[in-house]
Amino acid sequence: MDDEEHLKWMKEAMNMAEEALASGEVPVGCVFVRGGQIVAKARNRTNELCNATRHAELEAIDSIIANKELTPEMSQYPLSSTTLYVTVEPCIMCASALRQMGIKEVYYGCANDRFGGCGSVLGVNERVQHPIHPSYRAIGGFCREDAIMILRRFYITENTNAPVPRSKANRVLKTEIHPSASTGR
Ligand SMILES: [Zn+2]
Repeated sequence: MDDEEHLKWMKEAMNMAEEALASGEVPVGCVFVRGGQIVAKARNRTNELCNATRHAELEAIDSIIANKELTPEMSQYPLSSTTLYVTVEPCIMCASALRQMGIKEVYYGCANDRFGGCGSVLGVNERVQHPIHPSYRAIGGFCREDAIMILRRFYITENTNAPVPRSKANRVLKTEIHPSASTGR
């Protein structure tokens, strides 16, 4: 697969991140691709459901597992022919779930400095040894700047419900992106 195709899928993931932003969620979106087609798309729903496990990746996995056409019968690695495109590096929780479900590979936008499970904080995808579950490749940098900018757009407006809201007037949306910069969630 060439970069152009990866970018095509990542743009679909970015559309889901935009949907998350419009809904007041940390803007992370993803699509799962199998056989050249999107089989699931999702975005963060942690605020809506008041549930910290409702990350985009786990939302999409649940829909794939629940769909009898996509998952006729449960096997140990139901995602072994499925590729994930996600706007931000999967967190440690999601990176581990993806490995346990045998994801084929992962492409992501920007790194996740706070909770990244594909190398930024912990290499759950391959560096951490596991006696059973096979490792998977995770490659970042697709639509990276878009992924960073949408997170900044979210964080510049958040906390307005806090008891003493910080003045938005003092906040400036930074548009400069350094090569090593990333924004965790
Ligand atoms: Zn996650």
